[in-house]
Amino acid sequence: MPVGTQGTVKAVEQRELEHLGARIILGNAYHLYLRPGTALIEQAGGLHRFIGWSGSLLTDSGGYQVFSLSDLRRIGEEGVQFKSHLDGSTHVFTPERVIDIERSLGSDIMMVLDECVPYPTDEAYASSSSALTIRWAERSRVRIDQTRPLYGSKQALFAIVQGSVFEQVREAAARQLSAMEFDGFAIGGLSVGEPADQMYRITELCTSILPEDRPRYLMGVGTPENILESIARGVDMFDCVLPTRNGRNAVFFTRSGKLNMRNAHHGADFRPVDAACSCYGCRSFTRAYIRHLFKAGEILALQLASMHNLTFYLQLVADARKAILDRRFGSWKETALKTLSAEEADES
Ligand SMILES: [Zn+2]
Repeated sequence: MPVGTQGTVKAVEQRELEHLGARIILGNAYHLYLRPGTALIEQAGGLHRFIGWSGSLLTDSGGYQVFSLSDLRRIGEEGVQFKSHLDGSTHVFTPERVIDIERSLGSDIMMVLDECVPYPTDEAYASSSSALTIRWAERSRVRIDQTRPLYGSKQALFAIVQGSVFEQVREAAARQLSAMEFDGFAIGGLSVGEPADQMYRITELCTSILPEDRPRYLMGVGTPENILESIARGVDMFDCVLPTRNGRNAVFFTRSGKLNMRNAHHGADFRPVDAACSCYGCRSFTRAYIRHLFKAGEILALQLASMHNLTFYLQLVADARKAILDRRFGSWKETALKTLSAEEADES
């Protein structure tokens, strides 16, 4: 799922997203609540209409942003009080309030409010925080039943498993949340600085417990290698800013590794960035030209890089899906991983 925090995937038009085959994008309740505000979005007829997007929308609750962006937050049983990173004004998010915001946005998939604990943390904190996130999930579930969608289309609700890298905490959370009626389940609080093997271990533990007939969503992950390894462990959904953020830093993902288009050796290279890619930039322009655009600080560079990387990610997961259906995912993944992780793609 391409990330469109503020109601836009940075540097990519909605019609391009459709063209690339993106069927769902992310919005963020924290950011959209602070600006432009839910009253305006309701007036516009919901987030789909406001941003002119006919595909699906998932809204993150903003828990992660409250804990990573805002100052002076105070967490209690009721919810979290925080100061806006934009103007310092004070706000309170409770699980109920976040559901109300997501009703106003009209997202197809709503995420519950959770506490995303930083890494590293101790087991006692992870445990009490996870218990709070579970109680908040229960309250979110109650609020859903007390409210109705505002724009006539169904809204799904996903719970989030927290618990840092502690197996017992994660296991208890996954079991308790699985017993509640949620449409899907997310694994949160990973890819926050822990080693990759710990991320994979915790992911595997969670997917071994979470219901197989519901989507399992690994939040904020990750590199192409992380995504394939997590699919192998039973994850169905991903969101990540890497394709667009790295793209804006001139990093292009390809099947044979990453390419940095600022590097001098692309200066007179008249090949496409990735001959195997079907994106507009790779069909139309050379590495030399794209490097020139980055050097000159041109907006087109950001657009081309973002579109290329989203094309790459969407194609990668489409290929993974096909390999699963053809029952050859294991061997396909091993072959793909051999070249994907190269820091600078083979220049031959
Ligand atoms: Zn391309």
